[in-house]
Amino acid sequence: MTDVRVDNPADFPPQEDTVERLWTPQRMTYVLRNSEDRPTKPKTKECPFCAGPKKSDEDGLIAWRGTHVFAIMNLYPYNVGHLMICPYRHVGFITELDDAELFEFEKATTLAMKVMETVSRPDGYNIGINQGEVAGAGVAAHLHQHVVPRWNGDANFMPIVAQTRTMPILLSDQRDAYAQAFEQLAPQYHLPLA
Ligand SMILES: [Zn+2]
Repeated sequence: MTDVRVDNPADFPPQEDTVERLWTPQRMTYVLRNSEDRPTKPKTKECPFCAGPKKSDEDGLIAWRGTHVFAIMNLYPYNVGHLMICPYRHVGFITELDDAELFEFEKATTLAMKVMETVSRPDGYNIGINQGEVAGAGVAAHLHQHVVPRWNGDANFMPIVAQTRTMPILLSDQRDAYAQAFEQLAPQYHLPLA
């Protein structure tokens, strides 16, 4: 048997992009606790979306756990508050989800928007999935839907000029705020699925 490609999660470590981020928690009313709150590169090559749910919510930066999917903070956010909805199951394409998974996947995405609206009142959202490495998926082997809040004026000159984005809030604080809102709002969305 030759030329048979078997996907190994270890072949798809999260890709750190080239954008440097300037963490500026002092801009918000949150207090910088310690440097441990800063994101670090994963120490293992295990699929991060399989590894995440095995940790505590705090350690895994998980904002919400459903029956088939969960919401996790992005370690390398495109913007403040960047969240991802992932199935627990290690599949790469949305076509591989069964009906229950697909329903909760999309329903949790709308719930995530409502959570963001409650926590930080965005003016808009970017929502989408990169499926396959060729399409730009950082962790191609494990499906994840990006939910990125946007505010008027957030796309300022800094990312272009300095390859830097200002991140005015720490991931752990953002997770805490999201988790609280998820818990509060999920029942209105009949989530998690029974
Ligand atoms: Zn996985």
